Amino acid sequence: MVVVFDLDDTLYPESAYVLSALEEVGRLGEQRLGLIGFTSVLFRLFKSGKRTKLFQTAIEEINRPALTGETLDLLLTTYRKHQPARLDWHPDALELVKALHDRYPLAIISDGYMPTQRLKAEALGAAKWFSPIIFTEELGREYWKPSARSYETIMQTYPGESFVYIGDNLAKDFIAPRALGWNTICVHRADGIHKDAFAPADGAARHDIADLSSVAALLSA
Ligand SMILES: [Mg+2]
Repeated sequence: MVVVFDLDDTLYPESAYVLSALEEVGRLGEQRLGLIGFTSVLFRLFKSGKRTKLFQTAIEEINRPALTGETLDLLLTTYRKHQPARLDWHPDALELVKALHDRYPLAIISDGYMPTQRLKAEALGAAKWFSPIIFTEELGREYWKPSARSYETIMQTYPGESFVYIGDNLAKDFIAPRALGWNTICVHRADGIHKDAFAPADGAARHDIADLSSVAALLSA
């Protein structure tokens, strides 16, 4: 069996990364662009659930709409290149990975922009535990989940094995692995960014769990 993990909100809390990146973006906006109070507006918008056009909305709130355009590009680049000083695993995730890595090959399939995803994986020290680590963005935007491409790559890497995918986003994580005959496990983190996502008809996971502490028992059952 090969155990394949999602990255964001499966292995570590994504909101911790977002807040760390917003802090850097906020500092840039305040110090170089004179956007007074930018950081606190960004934090407030994110914590209130805003997920799209965050920078643009914050700039408008500060009443500096003339700054959009090039400024947005600068802020976005800063965000995507953000290297967190540290990124902590969900403790149950690290415990599971340590328990499993002698027994099964472990791998990662992660959507998201680059180099952000690689920087997150580096901050977590993921290369020590997982192979391959597939960033779907490197294959092309059309290969983000729910594309089956990255899952098929894992199957070609480990022919003849059975597979399980552990993720958190019901909207897209489990569609392809289900179609390919994989086992599927959805972790519903209380602080997960996608915790309210709905599964399409063919996209629910076989198992739903609150954290990863029960996975080892599930896999050996
Ligand atoms: Mg995720």
